[in-house]
Amino acid sequence: MRAEEKNMVERIMDTETMGYAYEYPYGGGARKEYMLALTPENLANFIGARGCEAEKIIITDIADRLVVNTMFGMLDVCPDQKLCRRIVQHLLPIQMGEKEAGKVLAVNRNVSNQYFATTEGVPFRKKRNHGELPQYLIRDNHEPIISREEAEAVRKLCAYRKEQQCVENTEVYQNRYAFSSRIRCGVCGSTFRRQKIYIGKPYEKVQWCCHKHIQDRKVCGQKAIREDDIQCLFTRMWNRLAGNYEEILIPLLAGLKAVPRDPKQEKEIGELSHQIEELRKQSHMLRQVLVDGNIGSAVFIERRNQLDSELETAIHRRQLLEEDQFFEQEIMQTEYLLTVFRSRPARMEDYDEEAFLMIIDHVTVYPEKRVQFCLKNGLELEESLEEGDMADGRN
Ligand SMILES: [Zn+2]
Repeated sequence: MRAEEKNMVERIMDTETMGYAYEYPYGGGARKEYMLALTPENLANFIGARGCEAEKIIITDIADRLVVNTMFGMLDVCPDQKLCRRIVQHLLPIQMGEKEAGKVLAVNRNVSNQYFATTEGVPFRKKRNHGELPQYLIRDNHEPIISREEAEAVRKLCAYRKEQQCVENTEVYQNRYAFSSRIRCGVCGSTFRRQKIYIGKPYEKVQWCCHKHIQDRKVCGQKAIREDDIQCLFTRMWNRLAGNYEEILIPLLAGLKAVPRDPKQEKEIGELSHQIEELRKQSHMLRQVLVDGNIGSAVFIERRNQLDSELETAIHRRQLLEEDQFFEQEIMQTEYLLTVFRSRPARMEDYDEEAFLMIIDHVTVYPEKRVQFCLKNGLELEESLEEGDMADGRN
């Protein structure tokens, strides 16, 4: 271990806030692990310096409790809101390009492990279980740290700066692949990550593999699936569906529209109809009373206005309830899918990424190369790869 590395470990420990960072690069690849100081300023420097280049960073304390995580450079979950505000205070100027990220107190995890292995009595030598980590990642369980608009502005700025800095290496920064976070593991439920195999060989290939399987194959036994296999299955599914989409989607749409509303809503509609009828009767009576000359016109007008306003509210509310469909989202998406298939050729020769993005919500991969495509309206269609299907005859 070099002297400056040892020195850095000791500086981190001097802050009495040490923890770990797990950085997941864009587009897969091995995650990087660091030991670092968890002071707000250091966290801001660490995130600010690499936030845009990492798809995700998870920072935990030494007991593996989540301190903060980031998605595409933005703070995502930070259970301690006070700490969170202090990180943001330091991080925003960095993300907005107003100042550079300061020196980061962090070392590669190997260095800190080496340090602790050679030091007596350090109380932090806790064995990590990689499989446990995701349990801390509960999204959306807190107030947003910065508003959506601010986040979007920062994200754009970040993207712009990257564009300026690394024009020759843009691929790294724009690669949200069509399959990123859209492929789920049918065994353990986690998402698939992109991997390259046979790198540098003429037959270099891309495959997608369960995140948990990559971390520890004992946790999930799901095998990787090649990207061209998924593409081939998608093309096949598309051709099957596009050939007779009307027979499938039109009855589905009718079915969705026929689903009765929530009984509570039905009850409210009944009550509103009764109320509307009553108000109309009263209004009619009031007119009669006026004709008979028993009531002053000012009093009449006030009462009539009141009745009219109540009537209008009730009618409006009933209309809203009547328009409210139980499967509104699914109905909309099914109508959308019908338009997609109407406007596209019935047969797809080669995989078409645009078509994939248009109709697919997510894909679940099961063992034996069984793949389930979930369309945007929730419709699930399964395809599987037989032995003979593989274009290049591999097994
Ligand atoms: Zn899995």
